[in-house]
Amino acid sequence: MPELPEAENIRRALARVLTGRKIAGVEIFSPAMREPLTPLAAAGLEGTAFAGFRRRGRYVIADLSDGRALLMHFGMSGVVRVESAKIPRRKHEHVFLHLDDGRAFRFECTRRFSVLKVCTLPEPGGVPAELGTFGPEPLSEAFNGDSLYRASRGRTGCVKPFLMNNCVVAGIGNIYATEILFAAGVSPLRPAGELSQRECVLIAAESKRILARAIELGGSSISDFRNVDGREGKFAQELEVYGRAGLPCGKCGSMIVSQRIGGRTSAFCPGCQK
Ligand SMILES: [Zn+2]
Repeated sequence: MPELPEAENIRRALARVLTGRKIAGVEIFSPAMREPLTPLAAAGLEGTAFAGFRRRGRYVIADLSDGRALLMHFGMSGVVRVESAKIPRRKHEHVFLHLDDGRAFRFECTRRFSVLKVCTLPEPGGVPAELGTFGPEPLSEAFNGDSLYRASRGRTGCVKPFLMNNCVVAGIGNIYATEILFAAGVSPLRPAGELSQRECVLIAAESKRILARAIELGGSSISDFRNVDGREGKFAQELEVYGRAGLPCGKCGSMIVSQRIGGRTSAFCPGCQK
């Protein structure tokens, strides 16, 4: 499932291959993914160019030459490719944005939880209204032990869903929240409001270390994720607890357990995480 490191790799690849390219036409093959696709076809994108690519949490924002933006989220199984429009359409490809060079930006999504939509921006370079409530980016200086400690005061819910809340910190999903809490030695079941300042410093530091490492390795190819050029991310080989329930912990040898927390499967080591 594409999380922040995967979205960042998609952003970098799209910036490399699409910046400056013009959209020549829009073709939709399905009425909707998470939202209807008909507004995309009617948005008058023909003739606009890709001016640049930004990321906010797990969203990629493509700035367009007319001041609008294309907002993308890769849901559970979103895959984007930039390749010849003549290659026959795959079954789950829902949108082709035809380019001025005969290729197309092609959006595939088996489970249709992805988003691809045109947005107006509050100001040039601004963030679409949909993302207005997002907290700091985990890799920015605005996210640190102090900010996490302050945000967690009074929170009675478990720390794992707290860390996965976009309003607290943007874009940390199930895979990386699981790994971050293991690295920090904090049980995902702990109430967020009971974390010490020192634990918040550790969680923030491990968030930055793990996300940066995963970005460097091209993300984690769990289930359907592939990079724009079809390569698999290599971070999956470094996952220490995610997907390892029932196996011994690499640090202490205890059996890794799995439990549903906040509706999501959560693996952790009862020996290492207190
Ligand atoms: Zn352990």
